Amino acid sequence: MNEIQIRIPSHVIGPLFEEINRSARREPVVFGLVSHAQTSKRQLILVQELVLPPESAFLPSRGHGARWSGAYMIELLNQALKKKLGLFIFHAHPNVTNVSMSRDDLSSADDLLPRFQLVFPDRPHGSVVFGSESVDGVILMPKATKFLDRFNVRVIENHRIRTWPTVDAPSAERLQLARQPLTATPLLRSLLARAVVAVVGLSGGGSQVVSHLAALGIGEIIGIDNQCVDRSNRLATPNLGWFEALLRISKGTAAKFRVWLTNRETTFAPVKARIPEKEALDALKRADIIVGCVNNLHARADLSDAAARYCIPYVDIGLGLIPDESAPGKLKPLVAIAGNLFTIIPGGPCLWCADFLTKAKLDDETGGRGRSYLRDGSDRDAYVSCFNGILAAEAAAEVLRLIVGLESRREFRRQYDGFTGTLLEMAIPRKPTCHVCSSVLAAGDPVWQPISQGR
Ligand SMILES: [Zn+2]
Ligand SMILES: [Zn+2]
Repeated sequence: MNEIQIRIPSHVIGPLFEEINRSARREPVVFGLVSHAQTSKRQLILVQELVLPPESAFLPSRGHGARWSGAYMIELLNQALKKKLGLFIFHAHPNVTNVSMSRDDLSSADDLLPRFQLVFPDRPHGSVVFGSESVDGVILMPKATKFLDRFNVRVIENHRIRTWPTVDAPSAERLQLARQPLTATPLLRSLLARAVVAVVGLSGGGSQVVSHLAALGIGEIIGIDNQCVDRSNRLATPNLGWFEALLRISKGTAAKFRVWLTNRETTFAPVKARIPEKEALDALKRADIIVGCVNNLHARADLSDAAARYCIPYVDIGLGLIPDESAPGKLKPLVAIAGNLFTIIPGGPCLWCADFLTKAKLDDETGGRGRSYLRDGSDRDAYVSCFNGILAAEAAAEVLRLIVGLESRREFRRQYDGFTGTLLEMAIPRKPTCHVCSSVLAAGDPVWQPISQGR
């Protein structure tokens, strides 16, 4: 049986937990409109938006759970149907460590979920109760007749990703993680070993990210790249040398060998494909975190789309040597060694919000960028290994920060200046008009309309 995971993106976490943990006469309830997706190992349920019911929607109830007026329920179901989304009921039993659904909670779910399913059978429906870092509930998957009660919840906060119920660990280890989060404990080792990180592009930046992730003891690294090593890679990374170039092995095989030398507990799964080929996207979908080390905007647009769609944090790095286009003559002087570092948390500002990606820039980039770091249209190699190394180490640090929960200001994009070796922060607000944030975020797999049966 596949694992079922409910993902809650960062922008709905605040309103959700604030409302359901509010003290009130009855248990406060929030509805979630959800999509879903299937990966090779999990069924994902993605919370796209919340609906906070108005006080007028409630009926007096003698039991412990809430009851709603029929008119409100119909309105809510219509809303879900129009958006082709499933309906979840969320509430909390605050401060309970091993939370479980009460008898009233279960009987209300028994009554409501089949009715939700009757209206829209193609998406999951459910009722979930949150305790303190614990969760219980029942879920009715699309077209299923039986309730499922085994699932976990991924809470994607701005500074960390957590999965409830949490890993079992003694309270001393939990305290250690909270106060001194980098200290090696069995709890931290287990959190790292459970993580699956996809690294897209295994050249200058990606090959170095992989080494850092292996050293951290990340459980599985998915390496996506379709190229073979050649001599030019030596200038971009210390991890692809004369030996790999001589054998002309694939960059995936080279990375797999490095990982094995560094940490035999880490699994490396090479995928010899390009984004957006299906094999690459399928592999990407099962990652907990994506690190993109690609050199063109079209690949970034595809990565950003997949990350948003399945609620996966996405760390983007890139480097370019920028010549002064306005200078006279053919050989333009170098004016910037520009690196980019941006972590996109589902529900936070994205590459489109930041105008890092725009339709005009994509249209402008014909046939993808050349493989040279030098942005002068030539194909000359350049010594960029150490600059890639700084960006790669920072990308791996972002993975570590998200897993252990180090505070970080993710509404900032960072620009690396290779001349001075400094990182500049640039504030990025979330754009209300952004099409990715409003229509792709938590969209899941598309729901296909079945072709008429009566042919
Ligand atoms: Zn309850
Ligand atoms: Zn956006």
